[in-house]
Amino acid sequence: CGIVGYVGPRPSQDILISGLARLEYRGYDSAGIAIIDGDGSLGMRKRAGKLSALRDELSSSPIADGTTGIGHTRWATHGGPTDANAHPHLADDDKLAVIHNGIVENYSALKDELLAEGYDFRSETDTEVAAVLLGHEYRSNGGDLVEAFRATVNRLEGAFTLLAVHKDHPGLVVGARRNSPLVIGIGEGENFLASDVAAFVEHTRHALAIGQDEIVAITPSGVEVTDFQGNAVEVEPFEVTWDA
Ligand code: GLU
Repeated sequence: CGIVGYVGPRPSQDILISGLARLEYRGYDSAGIAIIDGDGSLGMRKRAGKLSALRDELSSSPIADGTTGIGHTRWATHGGPTDANAHPHLADDDKLAVIHNGIVENYSALKDELLAEGYDFRSETDTEVAAVLLGHEYRSNGGDLVEAFRATVNRLEGAFTLLAVHKDHPGLVVGARRNSPLVIGIGEGENFLASDVAAFVEHTRHALAIGQDEIVAITPSGVEVTDFQGNAVEVEPFEVTWDA
């Protein structure tokens, strides 16, 4: 139900948690984060229940110093509100983490296809199907995360804001949206993605709107937006003027 992503020089754990706290008003039943370290390890924590349950888990078991990260609050649609069904969902041998708001309408047919290819699933969610498909496309194309994202979103029906990080790509968060919101926050040497500007307005008020059926790749120094066919897209800058 809420999504936030961060790339930049700062440890992202607290940035993600405070971003999710600002999206709490929308309601949710679970929360989770995934963070990539500079040395390329991927840390993931997720819990059913309130953000305080995730905070408790992080205070006993923090994800130290990683800067590139994604965070999610879930409003369960497919699979009950359990730890296993909470996002992020991992794929590609736990090197890839994916979060999702919305509903993948054709998840059942895609899941059958992936099961036939020999993939395993650890949750009952529609989201994990998108994660496993993304991992499959990533392996098939030799490791281009943005192109794997493009191949994946072109096969999904329904509504989605999707974000992914991969441990072999520190400093990169990839996102896409269809029938579900996603905005870019432009900082100095850092950039944000979120389902709502509220998640990053304490860090920057410079924002870019992402259109329907577009893919975005953010790094600490840049933003690239393309459509689902791969054509570059001009994005609309705007300033967040309301008081945070
Ligand atoms: N359909 C997904 C799930 O049930 C995402 C729900 C959401 O938007 O939070 O896990």
